Amino acid sequence: MDVLLLGLDPNVEGLLRKHTESSSTQKVHFHSSPAENGADFTTRQWDMIVLDRSIRSNVHLADAVKTNSLGGLKIVLTEKENLDSAIEFWGPAIYSYIFKPVNWMLFQVIWQQALERIRLNSKLFRLEKQHEKKHEMQQKKRRAHAPQQEEILKDLFVTHLKMQELDQEKTDFLARTSHELRTPLTALQGYLELLAHSKAGAVNELQAHLLGRSLDTCRRLQGLSNSLMDLSTLNSNRTHLQLGKENIQECLAQVVAELSQAIEEKNLELRFDNAAEIPKFRFDADQMHQVFINLLDNAIKFTPAGGGIQIRSLPYFWERRTVRELVFAQQDRRIAVSPADFNSVRISVEDTGRGIPPECLQDIFQEYSRVVNGNGSPKGFGLGLAVARKIVMAHEGKVWAENRQGQGSAFTVLIPISL
Ligand code: ADP
Repeated sequence: MDVLLLGLDPNVEGLLRKHTESSSTQKVHFHSSPAENGADFTTRQWDMIVLDRSIRSNVHLADAVKTNSLGGLKIVLTEKENLDSAIEFWGPAIYSYIFKPVNWMLFQVIWQQALERIRLNSKLFRLEKQHEKKHEMQQKKRRAHAPQQEEILKDLFVTHLKMQELDQEKTDFLARTSHELRTPLTALQGYLELLAHSKAGAVNELQAHLLGRSLDTCRRLQGLSNSLMDLSTLNSNRTHLQLGKENIQECLAQVVAELSQAIEEKNLELRFDNAAEIPKFRFDADQMHQVFINLLDNAIKFTPAGGGIQIRSLPYFWERRTVRELVFAQQDRRIAVSPADFNSVRISVEDTGRGIPPECLQDIFQEYSRVVNGNGSPKGFGLGLAVARKIVMAHEGKVWAENRQGQGSAFTVLIPISL
């Protein structure tokens, strides 16, 4: 450790060396200088500097101490009555003041504290250096890996695009094929209906039953063909919404009317709550019709005979939130308000059916996604919800599924009214 003694009386210097050398745990190298020569020492750094106030007369040296260009922990020896003027003169650069004549016991205490402070400072300095080095190495590594990562990202992006393209090609191919099948299917359905209604001669009970089953299959194939064609159109961004000021509740009523026979056949209790008045707003009535056909059709399909279905429409205030806000939301802030300040409509289709396994609630909106449960392979093609979601999203809305408390599932659609 290097200690500079500046302008000290030779007697004081001798005592200082005597009292500190014995109590210091590390080797101390003293360098001393009278006040008038001290400027020679300003070019190097010191661990500690003990100085007499008399060096004030050496302007260059005094400045170096005050501005800390002469680095090191500084202890000033001063007379008690000069303490105020010393503090004012030296400012914040001084670690401690010791009164003259020096109380050497007190000096030793301050000396020890100063040594501890020096030790901690150098440890801190070392740690900072280590940290800087580590940081620098990390930066270097990152810079070295950056091109690789960029390459991987590019590859991933290209693969993603290729997969999207392939997906689109697959859907387009299926859509073209189904289009080709449409005419023969319609003809087939016509002939089957003629036969089923005994227009081509009487049919016995077994034949009527088989004809009924054939007609069902024919209708399912037609449904598939329609879904594939819808999907192909929606995927290829050829969706030009035919927006017009329409009545959503009328649209829902039509859907219910269209599927009422299937509801009756399964003896389902339908509750249709259209009480809250929703003024007309702009949407594509045909497409939206398709959304609710798909949702209600599923509710009928997945609810056992004798169960219930509820359809509800409400004016709604939709507070769009960022993902972060959604994750950290304390409570659900979506609130239904008076019709005067609603910005969207909320339509829900709930049933008392088998519900959806929680882990599938998101996936069921993907194309060709179906829930596999214990009863063998699922019926259907997994397209209805994908089509519904694409249409809702084209309207800048959203659709999601939940399980109802108790039993069954609930599908909710939010559509903004400001398109
Ligand atoms: P699909 O036309 O084959 O029914 P969807 O896309 O309409 O296909 O539905 C995907 C899957 O989501 C279905 O196979 C079914 O497992 C599940 N699902 C949809 N609606 C309901 C519902 N109301 N209750 C239970 N499961 C449902």
